[in-house]
Amino acid sequence: MPRINNSAKDIIRLEAERFLAEYGFTSPPLPPDEALAARKLEVTPLSLDDLLIRANLLPEEQMKIQAMLDINERSITFRQGLPLQKQSWGKLHEIGHEFLPWHRELFYYCPLLWLPADIQTQLEVEADMFAAETFFFGSKFNEYAGEGEFGLNTAKILADTIYGTSYHATFAHFVEQSEVPCCLVIWKPLEISKDGAQQIQLKLHYYLPSRNFKGHITHGMTIKDEDLIGLLTDYSIGAVKHKIKVNGYRGKTQLLDAESFSNSYNIFTLIFQPK
Ligand SMILES: [Zn+2]
Repeated sequence: MPRINNSAKDIIRLEAERFLAEYGFTSPPLPPDEALAARKLEVTPLSLDDLLIRANLLPEEQMKIQAMLDINERSITFRQGLPLQKQSWGKLHEIGHEFLPWHRELFYYCPLLWLPADIQTQLEVEADMFAAETFFFGSKFNEYAGEGEFGLNTAKILADTIYGTSYHATFAHFVEQSEVPCCLVIWKPLEISKDGAQQIQLKLHYYLPSRNFKGHITHGMTIKDEDLIGLLTDYSIGAVKHKIKVNGYRGKTQLLDAESFSNSYNIFTLIFQPK
């Protein structure tokens, strides 16, 4: 992922706050359809899948695209069967392309796909950042987040009762905005067969360090932790505190404080860096 420097982040936050103020969105949750209507954008009944087939793109290029904005027609077309929360996110992401002045100017003349790959990636990250800053109401987020104890249970309350956003998006924003040195790790259960028996392990799906986190997380690692795996079926209990073994530099393992929460198909682990 390309690094976005802090001044670009600040500018996108200011643009998101300008958007919210201009259209009278004063407190969360932000209704994506009202946000679209505010910019006079419409979702077309077409399927992006059909359009992509006609555009002659490589399958891996097609995979990356979930929605497409036609800035002149003021329309957005989604892929078929996109889950509701992804569609909601996609709406604000596309509004980002339409609202951020430097995106809008570019897209009037040139579709995203014609741009060099690194610029495409940069613009995509910026549009996602705009989506996050609008959904989470810019600098107001830290006020809401600061009301509870730092951890996944507070982040879960924000998602469930204030923002109506996905756990993935809310937890990521929670960690990204925090001063606490910690790292959010998302695990996927992985079924393997060993000595003729089926076993479940957890494979690292992705991780997101807070800006002060100095630890080391190994890409693609798997762990076999019965207590964590148990959360997949007993997921109603909220986040539980535990210790986790993490490989440090030069193969040294460390036992760190952590807490985990499962939404039944992923496990989210927040790992705290020792003081
Ligand atoms: Zn985009």
